[in-house]
Amino acid sequence: MGGRGASSGDLNDGIGREIVSTKDKDIWSYRHNPNNEQFVDNINTTIKEMQENYNGLMSVINDIYMANIKNGDTVIAFWDSGKGELGINTRYGDIKKMAASYDKCVKKGYHPGRGNKTAEQAVVAHELGHSLTSVVQQKLGSKDFDDVSKKIVKEAQNILNKGLKRKKYPGTMKIAKNISGYATSSNAECIAEATADVYCNGSKAKTESKAVVQALHNFCK
Ligand SMILES: [Zn+2]
Repeated sequence: MGGRGASSGDLNDGIGREIVSTKDKDIWSYRHNPNNEQFVDNINTTIKEMQENYNGLMSVINDIYMANIKNGDTVIAFWDSGKGELGINTRYGDIKKMAASYDKCVKKGYHPGRGNKTAEQAVVAHELGHSLTSVVQQKLGSKDFDDVSKKIVKEAQNILNKGLKRKKYPGTMKIAKNISGYATSSNAECIAEATADVYCNGSKAKTESKAVVQALHNFCK
């Protein structure tokens, strides 16, 4: 473990895993059950706050809904970049279930901490990090989501190494490793995890997460 190779390397392509899902309910009809009101409101608060901070976010989002995910008991939510859809697994459509699942991952170092935000907020901020990658993709007129993800994390690497004689970040893997376990799985997940970290932890977020978000802003201008 931990040889030189790993931390000088670059991140791979990919976003989560292939998901087979169907729309279960619109989040508004989900909110009709009084037990779900706070859950849906937490989601909407995140969208509103992120929309105020990131130009063009709403231009890529076509639908946000509760989803039945056929092949993923452990998938909490997903972003479909082709359709512009954000789905939340109905299985986790409850404040307590969502918090239990998210916090277990935080303990293992798999996700960044959520500060004083709810688990819904952390999860939605992660997915919106993918949506923001779609915004950059639209700006660049690119057909390749993975290529755009790679460009964003490379830009973060440049930001972090700027002015340093001895480059502290020889590759993008080292950036991801300092953000979270899941961030190391690909460029796309590194961006999503960094977005959630900055949204939840603000000035206390990791330096690497802040650099990734700065890179997103640079491309979204
Ligand atoms: Zn993701």
